[in-house]
Amino acid sequence: IGRSLFTDYLGLQDELTEQELDYLERTRRFVDHEVLPVIGDYWQRAEFPFELIAKMAELGIVGDGIEGYGCPQMSPTASGLINMELSRGDGSLGTFLGVQSGLAMRSIALLGSQEQKQRWLPGMAALEVIGAFALTEPEHGSDSVGLEASLHRDGDAYVLSGRKRWIGNGSIADVVVVWARDTEDGAVKGLLLEKDTPGFQAEVMLGKGSVRAVWQADLTFTDVRVPLDNKLPGANTFKDASVVLASTRNSVAWAALGHAVAAYEVALTYSKERIQFGKPLATKQLVQDKLVRMLAEVTTMQLYCLRLAKLLEAGKLTDTISALAKMNNTRKAREVIAMARDLLGGNGILLENHVIRHMADIEAIYTYEGTADIQTLIVGREITGMSAFT
Ligand code: FAD
Repeated sequence: IGRSLFTDYLGLQDELTEQELDYLERTRRFVDHEVLPVIGDYWQRAEFPFELIAKMAELGIVGDGIEGYGCPQMSPTASGLINMELSRGDGSLGTFLGVQSGLAMRSIALLGSQEQKQRWLPGMAALEVIGAFALTEPEHGSDSVGLEASLHRDGDAYVLSGRKRWIGNGSIADVVVVWARDTEDGAVKGLLLEKDTPGFQAEVMLGKGSVRAVWQADLTFTDVRVPLDNKLPGANTFKDASVVLASTRNSVAWAALGHAVAAYEVALTYSKERIQFGKPLATKQLVQDKLVRMLAEVTTMQLYCLRLAKLLEAGKLTDTISALAKMNNTRKAREVIAMARDLLGGNGILLENHVIRHMADIEAIYTYEGTADIQTLIVGREITGMSAFT
């Protein structure tokens, strides 16, 4: 394996195992050879890259470290590196993976029955079965705890009603993890809703200026009958949904790192090649200052990510640490990408140079799975002992 695989000023790759380096290199090769040459066009057309998903399936990288059930075995670090690399390529692909393995598969793995895991996870790991995770509603984003979609038991089924918004893969999913409030006890519960169930409609959201090559959908449930067996046995309160989100927030921190690395690498190469006032931009002190500040931020993000993975491996990763990392890394990524955009001058806004796509995409990543503000309030509540949410 070629060892100088990514921007790594502190030599952190010495900490990686052979298997982790293998996942990193495999994903990196896919991104460089398959994703980067075509993704700008998909982004521009707001088209989902089905051909890339088929190729991604062959790589054996989907499963987020879930043990068994046909999922490729990998450490939390390997899983993070895969997230980082896909996002270095493109935020839409990173978002797709985050929904498929982080949210949908993780919900089934953490909260599902043996039968549900056996039925769904192997196909999902092979990308033959697509998943979605439906929590957000038109009137409940950050305060998803107040969600209004409802379910009640009626004979051999739960009857599901209401609406969801912003649901990644919602229009193409074979199975959607839906969170709804039980009208009997008021608790939030999770159901597996299958494609083509009568009363279930999904409509792709149009007009996005961010992660354009992946689709989110508006979902409507009109008295949808979901078999009792499709209830996730471990999904009985809003806290259970939060457990899934806490485990995926650390993936978002890795994804943000990928976006920042992409922007930094483009800016560094460009600065060495672009001649102004008779010399490469990289000879200028102001330019070096920007490049070094970008590198310093990227390096901090890497340290956060590697520590997250180690804590996860040791069973010590808390919700608040994930929240801190998600907040920090998405904020830093935004700053790094903005500096890169600046360094490329006018070329910085051309899609062919990739930076503007990352700049647009990081806006979604900054917002989804809990905005940077919400992560801040989660950490603020812990360090002060006082809640500032309401
Ligand atoms: P709001 O909650 O309305 O927030 C607006 C602003 O107010 C933000 O700046 C926020 O930080 C701030 N704010 C809110 N509350 C407070 C407070 N108490 N104090 C201070 N400031 C506050 N959801 C899913 O369920 N499944 C998905 O697959 C999914 N995919 C997504 C993909 C994309 C591209 C996007 C953009 C969103 C996705 N979401 C998904 C929804 C996402 O999780 C929400 O957008 C997010 O939680 C924020 O909710 P909101 O957009 O309603 O913003």
